[in-house]
Amino acid sequence: MEMEQQLIERALKAARDTRFLAVEQGIRHQTAGIFTSMFGPREAVIIADGNTYEAAGRDVEASFVRENRPLRKPFIFGPHIYADDECVRELAGALRSHDAIPIAVGSGTINDLTKLAAHQTNRPYMVVGTAASMDGYSAYGASITTAGSKDTVDCPAPMAVLADLDVIAQAPKVMNAWGYGDLMAKVVAGADWILADAAGVEAINPPVWETVQGLLRSWIGSPEAIAANEPSALRHLVHGLVMSGFAMQASLSSRPASGAEHQFSHLWDMQHHTFEGKTPSHGFKVGIGVLASLALHEDLLSRDLSSFDIDAAVRAWPSMDELEQRIHRLFGPGALEKRANEETRAKYASGDALRAQLRGIVENWPELRAKLLAQLIPFRELQGMLRRAGCPFDPAQIGISRARLRTSYMQCCYMRRRFTVLDVAQRLGIFDSALDKLFGPHGPWPIEGEVQP
Ligand SMILES: [Zn+2]
Repeated sequence: MEMEQQLIERALKAARDTRFLAVEQGIRHQTAGIFTSMFGPREAVIIADGNTYEAAGRDVEASFVRENRPLRKPFIFGPHIYADDECVRELAGALRSHDAIPIAVGSGTINDLTKLAAHQTNRPYMVVGTAASMDGYSAYGASITTAGSKDTVDCPAPMAVLADLDVIAQAPKVMNAWGYGDLMAKVVAGADWILADAAGVEAINPPVWETVQGLLRSWIGSPEAIAANEPSALRHLVHGLVMSGFAMQASLSSRPASGAEHQFSHLWDMQHHTFEGKTPSHGFKVGIGVLASLALHEDLLSRDLSSFDIDAAVRAWPSMDELEQRIHRLFGPGALEKRANEETRAKYASGDALRAQLRGIVENWPELRAKLLAQLIPFRELQGMLRRAGCPFDPAQIGISRARLRTSYMQCCYMRRRFTVLDVAQRLGIFDSALDKLFGPHGPWPIEGEVQP
């Protein structure tokens, strides 16, 4: 507990925008006092939707009335609320008619809309979180859909983050399971960072690493208790998610919180994947991405790289032209192909640069392998943790067939410039044989005899 407090205080100091964090039962009733300590005599305005207003907004409002603090009439989104540019315009338009500081009362969507609209109207904001559904509360940047495609738009994180554990325990259970999927990502994202560090592509920043990874095992360690809405487990979950956001603020990058597992989720977003008429949640797509990434990491760990022929791998590595042809075959013409070409070019390496990357992996393999083993959780164990938290643990549960998952592996390594286990497997020339194993009769997802979801 003490170590956790120290870790949080250090992360708050290093965070770029956020100055205050409280994760407590009943903290919503103290919002007015905290607002005043952050923003002085400025007027406040609550941003919510019908549900979050009832869950917490009304009590936040009452705290201002009790303390006789200035508060405008709340801005309440209708049922059309969606994290897109239209709703940002609607909110920014309303904010322009006054200069009150917004208090976002809600989870991912309301926080992202408020974060961007506050930035566009030149003011800070704070958030009262109503579910432990994702790691974006305290992150730099808002995830907003523009013209049908989802992007992270740069904008500052909230000045204060309040998470009321009483409210979070009342949130739909599935939302806290989403957050658990997003927190599980940090296990494999950490392993990807270890690989990128070893390859000399992106060095580990120790304090930022510690913020996310220092207590990760205790934050993810009680999946049943999260499914049962136990306050102490929810506190762990919120701490893990918020600390991931602080790490992203400190490094102005999502590297500390996102690796190959998020690339699966982003790919399915860009392909507008739906299941049973709905878009699966970010956390659930990421959870399946965690299993996909972990399976590839485990295949890598099962290999003996002591006699690996680096020169042969460098000779076999395709030119950028050849990769562009591969990308064209995988995606066909269009926006995805264009993006894949750009992202792949940004991380392309050949000749001596590629040789140096491979030497970083292969020549330190026994040490590196031990580090990865310590970082990762065995596949069956992690799959069981997802199941016990109420998350999907098989791709079919989010409408992804095994054949589609296999294609997704091949596609998603081109979709983002971040260097992950996907890039290591490709550069080592073991990617195809790894997929054969993962989808073969003894792998986690035998394609033979697959029952279609
Ligand atoms: Zn995420």
